[in-house]
Amino acid sequence: MRIPVSSAPHPLSRFWAPIWFRFGLVGFAAALTDLAFGITWALAVGLAGLGWLIGLHLYYLRKIALWIERPDGTAPSVELPAAYGAWATVFADLRRARRREDKERDQVTETLNRFIEATSALPDGIVILDRGGLIEWCNPSAEKHLGLNLKRDRGYLILNLVRQPPFTEYLMRADFAEPLTLADPVAQITLSVQLLPFQESRRMVVSRDITPYTRVETIRRDFIANVSHELRTPLTVVGGFLEQLIDQPDIAESQRQRIEAIMLDQTQRVERLIEDLLTLSRLETHSGPERETEFQARLLVEAIAIEAKALSDGKHEINVDTEPLTLTGSQDELRSAFANLTSNAVRHTTSGGMILISFGSHPEGAHFTVTDNGPGIAPEHLPRITERFYRVDKSRSRETGGTGLGLAIVKHALARHGGRLEIESEVGRGSTFRAILPMSRVH
Ligand code: ADP
Repeated sequence: MRIPVSSAPHPLSRFWAPIWFRFGLVGFAAALTDLAFGITWALAVGLAGLGWLIGLHLYYLRKIALWIERPDGTAPSVELPAAYGAWATVFADLRRARRREDKERDQVTETLNRFIEATSALPDGIVILDRGGLIEWCNPSAEKHLGLNLKRDRGYLILNLVRQPPFTEYLMRADFAEPLTLADPVAQITLSVQLLPFQESRRMVVSRDITPYTRVETIRRDFIANVSHELRTPLTVVGGFLEQLIDQPDIAESQRQRIEAIMLDQTQRVERLIEDLLTLSRLETHSGPERETEFQARLLVEAIAIEAKALSDGKHEINVDTEPLTLTGSQDELRSAFANLTSNAVRHTTSGGMILISFGSHPEGAHFTVTDNGPGIAPEHLPRITERFYRVDKSRSRETGGTGLGLAIVKHALARHGGRLEIESEVGRGSTFRAILPMSRVH
């Protein structure tokens, strides 16, 4: 940083003039004494005058020496005294130079502090290494990412402190164009670490927490694997049967009919899966409900109950209890959420079970609740039950035509309406799924 120097140097005449003036004064006094008292007294006066001048200069020199010393490195220990003549000019210049230096130092300190504050707020970690790989400085994010402590570790070799073999290998490499991905199983974070050379042989280690990105990547990979698996199973069944039909054209009629029924069932399963995937993707794409209207919820609940009874085909006792409330929202999305809850109760409850569908006001707004006395869900499954493709009993879910996406659809559809899903369940006793909508959606 450069501070503009405003004052021009003093002309030398301003420095020399008072010196010559004082020497002239001493000479003049000696000459006068010579005239009045003779040469001896004149010499005495001349020497006394010179002694006074030398003493004065030594006094000022001592003051300067003390003033320059600055024992604590900040404020001068001694103030420069008021001076006369040439010393006044010198002192003024010195004071000005010191003020300039102080100002420069303050500005550098302020810039440095601002830089440290800014880097402290950075989510990325930065470690500055000297030529030998010793830690010179690091910010708090680097302390967190790499388990460093600036106060304790300054001046130590980074390789001795971050003792992960991939990190050591990376630092030994000559090519740092690509960052290193470093997984810390203890802290359960994944870091991207890159070494950036600067100032010839100095280096900077930049670390970034990429855990959220790796999590998204894992979810994406799992999702693709799940969808592929879900599609492959029915396609394998259909493919196998088609081969059989081609190989055995004169297959018995009853067997052909059985095969055709299975193939139809499997293709319907693929269709349902694709439908659910499209619904889920629509729900995830937009943040708010699509085509919002005000509608009589009772009619919707009754229609859903009729569908549930059709699906049950008389195997369950299904009761309905609704209040006449008007809702605002996407009828399609709420129908999808409510219908998934009732179809789950029908599909997962064994024949002879009881299902109660109720709709009405709730302290938070309104609720749509489905209670069954089916198998129930063990507590360890509850936190993950709304994840895509998460099933407690995979084969039962598939046998009953489930796609494993129903509760994920319910969760998303409710969230888009500002609502939430509440689940109470006990193994062997049954489950209660409660969709709660906020007051702003109820009239
Ligand atoms: P699925 O298509 O398999 O029903 P869902 O996402 O709708 O998928 O449900 C996820 C899992 O939650 C189901 O596989 C089942 O194990 C469990 N589940 C959902 N509803 C019930 C219920 N009413 N009773 C018992 N288990 C249920």
